[in-house]
Amino acid sequence: MSDTVPSPREILASVFGFSDFIGLQEPIIDNVMRGGDSLVLMPTGGGKSLCYQIPAMLRNGVGICVSPLIALMHDQVQGLTQMGIRAACLNSSMDPNTAYDIERMVENGQLDLLYVAPERLCKPGFLDFLSRCNPSLFAIDEAHCVSQWGHDFRPEYMQLSVIKERFPHVPRLALTATADEPTQADIIRNLQLEQAQVFATGFDRPNIRYMVSPKKNATAMLKRFIKENHPNDAGIVYRLSRKKVDATAEFLQKNGFNALPYHAGMTPGDRARNQDRFMREEGVIIVATVAFGMGVDKPNVRFVCHLEPPKSLEAYHQETGRGGRDGLPATAWMCFGMQDIAVLRSMIESGEADETRKRVEHSKLASLFAFLETAGCRRQALLGYFGEHIEPCGNCDNCLSPVDTWDGTVAAQKALSNIFRTEQRFGVNYLTQVLVGKENDRIKQFGHHRVSTFGIGQEMTQEQWKSVYRQLLASGLVSVDLDRFNALALNERSWPVLKGEQEVRFRTDPVLPRASKKKKRA
Ligand code: ADP
Ligand code: ZN
Repeated sequence: MSDTVPSPREILASVFGFSDFIGLQEPIIDNVMRGGDSLVLMPTGGGKSLCYQIPAMLRNGVGICVSPLIALMHDQVQGLTQMGIRAACLNSSMDPNTAYDIERMVENGQLDLLYVAPERLCKPGFLDFLSRCNPSLFAIDEAHCVSQWGHDFRPEYMQLSVIKERFPHVPRLALTATADEPTQADIIRNLQLEQAQVFATGFDRPNIRYMVSPKKNATAMLKRFIKENHPNDAGIVYRLSRKKVDATAEFLQKNGFNALPYHAGMTPGDRARNQDRFMREEGVIIVATVAFGMGVDKPNVRFVCHLEPPKSLEAYHQETGRGGRDGLPATAWMCFGMQDIAVLRSMIESGEADETRKRVEHSKLASLFAFLETAGCRRQALLGYFGEHIEPCGNCDNCLSPVDTWDGTVAAQKALSNIFRTEQRFGVNYLTQVLVGKENDRIKQFGHHRVSTFGIGQEMTQEQWKSVYRQLLASGLVSVDLDRFNALALNERSWPVLKGEQEVRFRTDPVLPRASKKKKRA
């Protein structure tokens, strides 16, 4: 080595062969080089590894990377060694002699980077050993494992706060691709990263246009969407159930599209065949449950549709992220209805998870609903969830045709008191019939043509009232009673609205006929 220390950029070029940093790699590396702590939030494939690998090569001593994935550790070390980087790993599946040799190399300053499993790192003996070896940095990979909020909680990660206690002056990086705000807060608290600089980047997929519509005959909407926007393109259509996958694939085939089903109920052979055709042929539409997508890397997927919303914004980001990998324009289009919201809620309730977990799932759903009903930029809402802040994007439905909002306080009061007058026993269809004053047998049978809310909503259509209920639900101003077939019920947040203490604004939904248009038609 020459006596001048190379710069991070020189290492990037000479060792890794890249001409430029991507995303926030450079400021992150600068922060580590200055000795600062970092919380790095980037999606998978975003280039997190370089953020600690380059400083580990440049700083004196050995960089320690904590990783829970022993198999990946091995691959990484192999890749690094091939590039001439002095790296090794220590894990429990290793024979003691090899482990001994590696520890001697660490002690002798012959390694730049050492990967270890968290349970090994936290052993008192190993910490003592490390304190003799001059660690240059600690990278904690898959840092969300320290959070009970995520799906990957690992108790041994909780002990990693010991690093801060034992090595208070060694810079630390926590890295993860799972980055919603509760997870971030857990990482910061549990790893004592209060002083860390937060770097969130790379979640944006600027070439994907996000569009969300209220549902009205999902498959007919889908057909129109594809015909008008992506007539001969490859795409993915997600559905919640196997049955709907089959039905939708068949529907598209009948309408002349090259569509194939994919779900876990098919034989492995059929599944593989359909996936293969999707990958190889031009313009194939795969209709699938979420079972589809792992490891599917087809660059020219031009659209990803959800006919039911996914269960969280993370899932949505990941699934829509399968579109437009080639960087060319792609569309993420979703439609959703009241029923879907109720189903997602009841799936959580009927699941096996404990109460805490259920609360977490519910609150993830709430974030998703807020995204669905937002009148602002979709991308802003989506990235905001990952801690990344941007200006309105100009490439989502709300940016392209700004959503009007209107003072919906009176409408909300009508809708809520209608729930109350009909005794909180009915779903949205019935409720909207009462509001617009439909005198059908069912309503008469219950005597609801005589309640005070019957027909008080004639200034709007039934569809518009449905949107009102959907938005009330999305913003938590009403609840769904799962024990009563998803009847709408009031909750403690309904009352301030009913009492006129709280103003409510609704989006004037561009997809649905507006209030003023009804008069023209009449
Ligand atoms: P992550 O750990 O965030 O999933 P990786 O660190 O494995 O991502 O990087 C993903 C890919 O991006 C790798 O193939 C890596 O070589 C590549 N990569 C990382 N940084 C750069 C860069 N500055 N320029 C070009 N490619 C990069
Ligand atoms: Zn936007």
